[in-house]
Amino acid sequence: VLTMARKTIACIDIGRTKTSIALAEIDGFVIDIIELPTQLELGPFQILEEIVNKLDTMFQETKSTPMILGVCCPGPLDIERGLVLSPPNLPGWTDFPLVELIHRRFEVPVVFDNDANAAALGEYKFGVGRGIDNLVYVTVSTGIGGGIIVNGQLIQGVGVGAGEIGHITVLPDGPLCGCGARGCLNAISSGNAIATNARQRLIEGNASILKSMVTDLENITAQIVAEAAIRGDLVARQVWDEAVYYLAVGIGNVVVTLSPEAVVIGGGVSASNDLLLTPLRRLILERTKILPVERIAILQAGLGANSGIYGALAMAAEKLGSSDG
Ligand SMILES: [Zn+2]
Repeated sequence: VLTMARKTIACIDIGRTKTSIALAEIDGFVIDIIELPTQLELGPFQILEEIVNKLDTMFQETKSTPMILGVCCPGPLDIERGLVLSPPNLPGWTDFPLVELIHRRFEVPVVFDNDANAAALGEYKFGVGRGIDNLVYVTVSTGIGGGIIVNGQLIQGVGVGAGEIGHITVLPDGPLCGCGARGCLNAISSGNAIATNARQRLIEGNASILKSMVTDLENITAQIVAEAAIRGDLVARQVWDEAVYYLAVGIGNVVVTLSPEAVVIGGGVSASNDLLLTPLRRLILERTKILPVERIAILQAGLGANSGIYGALAMAAEKLGSSDG
């Protein structure tokens, strides 16, 4: 007698420093989430090999087989062809056929999107955005990404896709961004930009406690700048305030365009709550007077570092639902 193997949804969120893998029931109930370090020096093929081996172990332990896989990673991506197109956050992943390789291994459908779009969906389906059918998600981490939900649907656009809030121009002819354009929000307010700007001010000779907080200027991070700002350091404060100001300019433009019910802020830099959310809320509201601003909530993401993996789950569950009907 054949016993039917238990069917599960498998999810993968590949990030620059860590990769999350999750297994969930068909109804979306999460069975397990694990994290692996992303050892970029190994290259994409070996990293993927480790991920699928880990998944195989999880299938064996739960005596299950996947029905579908949801996968997300940093963009830019070619969604239609399932390719990873040299993301700044995954060096060495050039035209990498991620979807095809996963599909070959497990022989089930694979749904795929960039990590910020996935995180938007994760927050909408499982996080602080539950029940909020019109929301904008912005991740402020080493880079800035975004995802937009309108009427309960993720806005996809064409090509590499919609929601690239990190690449809105906030300072025409401003600093060069990794995308090749100038003055993108990402080039001014991302964690990397905050660290670079602080470093630059120290090189210019400004006095700051930042110098005593690191052994090497290269080790300055946005988190360290935030700590120095809290301790009253003038240089750190200026760098931080400038980043938050331009973040409000960029997000304010999105808010007046879409009039969302909520803006959800995620990513590592957003952990500095009082230093970020409170001034950001005030600055956004100052710039969006045309709207009934009191109805727009500025919220901290609810799933922390797991927004993306929950989004991969939501994408896969949605696909299953649509192919059922
Ligand atoms: Zn850009």
